[in-house]
Amino acid sequence: MADSDDLDDLLDEIEGSLTHTETTKPSINVIPPIKTRVSAEDEDMDHIIDDICNDDDPLPVTRHTSNYNKLTKRPLPNVTPRCTTLLLGGSMTEMGLSERNSQRSCDKLRCTGCDFNVLHFNDFTWHSKCDYMFFRNNMPNTDKLSKNLVRKRGSRAYSCQCSWITMETAVEVTTLPQLKWVCGRH
Ligand SMILES: [Zn+2]
Ligand SMILES: [Zn+2]
Repeated sequence: MADSDDLDDLLDEIEGSLTHTETTKPSINVIPPIKTRVSAEDEDMDHIIDDICNDDDPLPVTRHTSNYNKLTKRPLPNVTPRCTTLLLGGSMTEMGLSERNSQRSCDKLRCTGCDFNVLHFNDFTWHSKCDYMFFRNNMPNTDKLSKNLVRKRGSRAYSCQCSWITMETAVEVTTLPQLKWVCGRH
């Protein structure tokens, strides 16, 4: 019986020491100082984050200003307008931007069918032997195209890669449905 009492005492001692070490462990680990260090690092991080935030602050401003610049640039297409009435004409017809008060034959024509810029030749007419393959093979080489250009005062020969026409007087493009020509802005 004495042995079992001793065992009990031993067990009690062990348990006691275990609970002791368990209760003392937190203070031994010195967690608070570590926590203060962590919080110090947190403060550093806060500073860094603050710095980043402060650095970021001007960015939205510049983004805003660039947006405003884009807004102010929106009216710019009006500086390079399209012809109000799209005209073709003979060599005597003044070329340029056509506006309500001054109608001119457009010199910035572009074909939406072949995506070529339209060329024009003052005081020339296209030879009757011109065909689709001639323009298909020779646009926009003016030297090669000139082989089928015939001199004719007052005429103006137009061509893209898929269409060609000779004009004597000013005519609206809308009356020539075979042409897919638009004003390419001035
Ligand atoms: Zn074309
Ligand atoms: Zn135009």
